[in-house]
Amino acid sequence: MGNQKFDCESCPSIKRTAGLYVHIPFCEAKCRYCGFYSEPIKNHAPQRLVSAIIRELGQYDHIETFQTVYIGGGSPSCLPAEQLLRLIREITSHWPKPEEFTIEVNPGQVNKGIFSQLRTAGVTRISIGAQSFNPDELTFLGRRHSVGDTGRAVEMARQAGFENIGLDLIFAIPHSTLSSWKYSLCSAIDLGVQHISAYALTYEEGTPLQKSVEAGEVAPVDEETDRQMYETTIDELEKAGFKQYEISNFAKPGFECKHNLNYWANKPYIGVGPAAGAYWNGKRTLNISDIKKYIEAIEQGKTVIAESETPDNTQIACETAVLNLRRRCGIILDEFEKQTGFDAMKLFAEPIGRYQNLGLIEATDGRLFLTRDALPIADSVLCDFSTT
Ligand code: SF4
Repeated sequence: MGNQKFDCESCPSIKRTAGLYVHIPFCEAKCRYCGFYSEPIKNHAPQRLVSAIIRELGQYDHIETFQTVYIGGGSPSCLPAEQLLRLIREITSHWPKPEEFTIEVNPGQVNKGIFSQLRTAGVTRISIGAQSFNPDELTFLGRRHSVGDTGRAVEMARQAGFENIGLDLIFAIPHSTLSSWKYSLCSAIDLGVQHISAYALTYEEGTPLQKSVEAGEVAPVDEETDRQMYETTIDELEKAGFKQYEISNFAKPGFECKHNLNYWANKPYIGVGPAAGAYWNGKRTLNISDIKKYIEAIEQGKTVIAESETPDNTQIACETAVLNLRRRCGIILDEFEKQTGFDAMKLFAEPIGRYQNLGLIEATDGRLFLTRDALPIADSVLCDFSTT
């Protein structure tokens, strides 16, 4: 890592301003491991939720531009096409031509027609929840799509004109092996996509999967295999021409997700929809995590914000450090000082010194960044930057 070079001028994490996130909390059915807020769509009236989200968006009419728009979930692709397109047209009529407009899709819920309509409506980037290319693992996770669906989704998106396609993958799934993970990874690479996110499976409190682990019915992958899978991810993707730009995110040059880079730069963003978070005007807020209550609040003209916090300057500096350090380029020291008013080298002198001695952090060329050795244990390193 000592000779790592950064292309600062083209780094999309600099000069970002605001992003818009829209949360669609519907899924066809709940996956076994999922800790996100989402509910089965069959229990709800999607047009009512879309109308409520459009009304919430109306509060931000005064904002001139969003650099990026991201519709995530849940599964936005389980919305009826006319509702999804209605939402997208509403967004682009107020904020036309963002630099990047991403939508998350579930491979089993798309067809050629919807991809063409999304493209025409102004979507520029597709993020596909592939998760695995091993049928047994998909079944284990409770996913409803097949391996074939993922390949077809990529092909259809490409035929519709999308040139920026990402796949999400999960490793360290119980019963998986280093070779089954390599197979998933290579299958994703072979599809010729521009972006791959790879996260280790987590056991979220209250999920059926976590309960199975607690009951001793499922054994998580051991730590050493988990680590090897992560190391393999970095090696294989780098060999295939992907650049690791964040702990879990890899892109062909120029295809980094600008919307997420905005988060890691700790720049402001709006979030609309049930359970959406936002960071705006110095406040971190969280919307009501209940579809019915969210719709009722909007329809009655009440606030949908359930939680709000105004971090002080030191908290902002710590949050910014933790987020920046997730990027391979790390903290850009002069940017950090402009943004937070703090000299990171002084504010975090103690953990920096300790981790430098362990070879886990390096300060070079005006940057402070995690070394490759630190990446598999990044969360525990970052913990020490979360307070001063
Ligand atoms: S599709 Fe995604 S959001 Fe929906 S239940 Fe499965 S993992 Fe959760």
